[in-house]
Amino acid sequence: MVLRERISEHTYVFRSSMYAKVNAGLITTPEGCILIDTLPYPEETQEIASFVRRRLRSEVKYIILTHSHADHVYGAYLFPDADVIGHLYSRKLLLTQTRPALVKARQTHPSLADVRLRLPAILMEKEAAVRLGGATLMMRHAPGHAPDVISVYYKEEKVLFASDAMMSIPYFIYGDINDLRRTLRELAEVSPLEDLVQGHGDVLLRGEVKTTIDIHLAYLDKVEAHVNEVIAKGLGKEALLSLDVEECGISRIALEGLANRLHQENLISLYTRKVKRLKQARAKQRQAAA
Ligand SMILES: [Zn+2]
Repeated sequence: MVLRERISEHTYVFRSSMYAKVNAGLITTPEGCILIDTLPYPEETQEIASFVRRRLRSEVKYIILTHSHADHVYGAYLFPDADVIGHLYSRKLLLTQTRPALVKARQTHPSLADVRLRLPAILMEKEAAVRLGGATLMMRHAPGHAPDVISVYYKEEKVLFASDAMMSIPYFIYGDINDLRRTLRELAEVSPLEDLVQGHGDVLLRGEVKTTIDIHLAYLDKVEAHVNEVIAKGLGKEALLSLDVEECGISRIALEGLANRLHQENLISLYTRKVKRLKQARAKQRQAAA
């Protein structure tokens, strides 16, 4: 069962109970609905489709895909008449990464058999807006979690959909830690704001947004400082895991216990990239000296 929450007059949030508390947003207008992301499993997105059809007696006109990750895009095929909006990079990543991963995932999840990826036909780069039935949705590139993430601000009801730039734990292995810092600072500036819908996890109320963003920025600093220390001391990857997720201000049980694993992946990915960059720099120095 999908959890449905009405967070303002025309805004609903649907949360997956099957995978990592993924959130999809629904904006209702007299001229139809705008769906922001879908849920990981078709049976869950089907619940959104039935709600729109049976309860609202409406239809989805646009789907905004906030990035190309499987858990947000698999359900788009259930709305064949909706136009799909997304970032330029999403289109590319859907083709090169999400599609081959789907072929594999079908082998272990028979319920994905019918899933067909829908590619965004309306593409944006830095900023764009969509207007429908009195609702204005302002989209903005928000990289860091992944290169193609976009955030969506519903101006009339002051709701910010931050996608995976905000989840119960910052997660940047597909993106870049510095991009994520920049994006978090930009999100902190969005105003006026009533609610922030994270890509995964609870909806944040106005008063919680700034503190949560500060916690996330502090988390990133702690993770990076630890990785730098491990590298400076010449220690191996094992030493990375001595930094506990709770020491970095993030609950271990966040996202149904996934938090600790995501934290370890953050550490390893940052370490691997930094070590690689160091090696490249040393090789260059040697070349220059020779
Ligand atoms: Zn993601």
